[in-house]
Amino acid sequence: MALNWFKKKKDKSAPSGADDAAAPPLDDGSEDAGLEPGAASEARHTPEMDAAESAEPAVDEPGPDEEPAQAQSAGKKGGNLFSRLKSGLSKTRQILTTDIDDLFLGKKIVDEDMLEDLEERLITADMGVQTTMDIMEKISRKRSRIADATDLKAVLREEILAYFEALPPPPAEAAAKPHVVMVVGVNGVGKTTTIGKLAAHEAGRGKKVLVAAADTFRAAAIEQIAIWAERAGADIVRHKDNADPAAVAYDGINAAISRDADIVFVDTAGRLHTKVNLMEEIKKIQRTLAKRLPDAPHEVLLVLDATTGQNALSQAKMFNEALGVTGIALTKLDGTAKGGIVVGICSSLNIPLKYIGVGEGVEDLQAFDPQRFVEALF
Ligand code: GDP
Ligand code: MG
Repeated sequence: MALNWFKKKKDKSAPSGADDAAAPPLDDGSEDAGLEPGAASEARHTPEMDAAESAEPAVDEPGPDEEPAQAQSAGKKGGNLFSRLKSGLSKTRQILTTDIDDLFLGKKIVDEDMLEDLEERLITADMGVQTTMDIMEKISRKRSRIADATDLKAVLREEILAYFEALPPPPAEAAAKPHVVMVVGVNGVGKTTTIGKLAAHEAGRGKKVLVAAADTFRAAAIEQIAIWAERAGADIVRHKDNADPAAVAYDGINAAISRDADIVFVDTAGRLHTKVNLMEEIKKIQRTLAKRLPDAPHEVLLVLDATTGQNALSQAKMFNEALGVTGIALTKLDGTAKGGIVVGICSSLNIPLKYIGVGEGVEDLQAFDPQRFVEALF
């Protein structure tokens, strides 16, 4: 089966296939957490005067008097977690389910046209060109088993799961105390929100949590993390805006040691990630943490925004090269039809996907569960 759609369109609109290249394997991973999903809601994107490259989403952070969305959903714990995941993924489902069913309307057999269409739909869902070609090849090898839509879906599901299962498993929960998690990513991807969700989760299971507000780029960023920390019942270490982020990180870890905290989340700035100075600044934070506590940070959690599609992959490569990323949190899956990026990320980066974000509320972060994810999709 030829990759016809790709051949026809690559000159016009090829997404960057280079992004699908394999990343170097990592020697570290991170622990799992039984997080729960919550109600989906839209991200609030607004233009921002930041000269960062276009891959960087411009997002408005809540101001001091604006409460994080966790306030709205904090009391709604419980509910049907699986259906929340499903509703968070509703846009992606539209492409991967409804659209695939459409392919079969009025057709009895799986023919070349249909496969070409499927290929187009996988690319539209942002699986990436390389991953799509790979999947199509595998489908074509199993062609004799595919008689109808149900079979095709089953094979597709199988192939997607195979990517997830090939990833290194997250290692057992670390024994280090305090366990230090440095959270990185470009501006607006959801670092602070993800820390807020994780802090609430950890505090909820009885851990003493401390947050270091090392995104000192502007006062509002410090206020935002302070609000999340307060709601989570976590301690916070903060300096004035424009303070040296490494100094905040150092003080944070110091405080965590003296207060006997279990886990520290270090929030970082994400502007201008293409400029050497930001990467250098984050590397400095990393080195500073290690100076105070030899194995810290125990985790480097990279936050990626699913709505940025293939750009997320290039961000991952850049951060991984600079810092050695141990796990990924993929946010805003509720806001995109391009959830195929999950497959793209898992197939082309050798980094465990730890969490997925399906909304802005405190419960809208889930530990990534491949089986459940695939079931929610189809
Ligand atoms: P940061 O700059 O990386 O710290 O990003 P923030 O944590 O400030 O998040 C930027 C925006 O994305 C905020 O409006 C968040 O509420 C929103 N956000 C974060 N995670 C999710 C998610 O999983 N789904 C949705 N819909 N919005 C999210
Ligand atoms: Mg932030």
